[in-house]
Amino acid sequence: MIMLYDNHQRPINYLRLAVTDRCNLRCFYCMPEEGIDYVPKTELLSYEEMLRLVRVLAKMGITKVRITGGEPFVRKDMIHFLSDLVKTPNLQEVHLTTNGTLTQNLIPQLQQIGIKSVNLSLDSLNKQRFFDITRRDVFDTVMETLHALIVAKLPTKINMVVMQDQNIDDIIPMVELAKANPINVRFIEEMPFNGTNRTPSLLEWNYKRIYQHIEATYPHIYKIEDGKYSTSTNYQIKGFQGTFGIIAAYSRTFCGTCNRIRLTPRGILKTCLYDTGVFNIKDVMRAGASDAQIQATFLDALGNRAKDGFEAEQNRHFDPLITESMSSIGG
Ligand code: SAM
Ligand code: SF4
Repeated sequence: MIMLYDNHQRPINYLRLAVTDRCNLRCFYCMPEEGIDYVPKTELLSYEEMLRLVRVLAKMGITKVRITGGEPFVRKDMIHFLSDLVKTPNLQEVHLTTNGTLTQNLIPQLQQIGIKSVNLSLDSLNKQRFFDITRRDVFDTVMETLHALIVAKLPTKINMVVMQDQNIDDIIPMVELAKANPINVRFIEEMPFNGTNRTPSLLEWNYKRIYQHIEATYPHIYKIEDGKYSTSTNYQIKGFQGTFGIIAAYSRTFCGTCNRIRLTPRGILKTCLYDTGVFNIKDVMRAGASDAQIQATFLDALGNRAKDGFEAEQNRHFDPLITESMSSIGG
């Protein structure tokens, strides 16, 4: 099997593909409430362009793709795209991340297509707090999606961004969701990708404090093995069917094994979440590049990858302050 490496000898086999910057929620840690400049439709990668890129990257060593956004299911014909995507030669796994608002009725089709797992974003188990965070009244729909995913036995992870003054009271109930359900609940440090220049009080709830908070209620947590390139540090509580993990997304403890690259909805390659983007592959393709030229462009970028998220942040070549929305990057 072909293996792709960056200039720090890290294998690169995972692509996070943001298929749209549009979203039907307005999670305040991700998007501003209004005044959003969506990418014009002609500037978005088309499905054909995405399929071609994945084909090229799968020949180079990418074996896993995660579909994200924005909200993937607000883009028309997403199911057709997914069924074409899974047929890409050499591609082994397709996963997706969704807010769960438009997902429930599609679960049978996702299973039939062979989607390996779903990450569901759920920041609160309290209806009012959910509304305060997402600015939309769809809590019941998302909870129904969660239950449907569990009943369908589609492997599911929950993503909860941990935020002071917002959802601290949800941490323990969220851990307890894993008591009777075989799911992995992941607590994520808040990052400053909120589409404004608001810098959250990031270090108030870092990975250590999240762990200590859980440990205060459940002193007998035991560490379980993390996946090879896992960004989460994972644990289990005795008697629980499921597990929980903590993602040090802002503390960036996992850069040493980072195996991922990102393509934004407009086709910008990011070799690190914290960089400002390396080049626009859509422009390269639309200028008539051959597959070999596209490959060479990727190889060049991977030969110049920052060693970690701190270096990438330091090298930001415009707007040193992070003002992007995660929906325009692909979280
Ligand atoms: N709309 C889909 C969803 O919410 O699952 C997919 C896109 S969303 C940008 C992907 C993930 O990024 C979500 O789990 C979300 O919670 C996370 N995310 C967004 N903004 C974030 C931030 N500022 N800090 C940490 N995680 C964030
Ligand atoms: Fe939309 Fe997901 Fe961002 Fe929330 S986190 S605003 S659901 S893209």
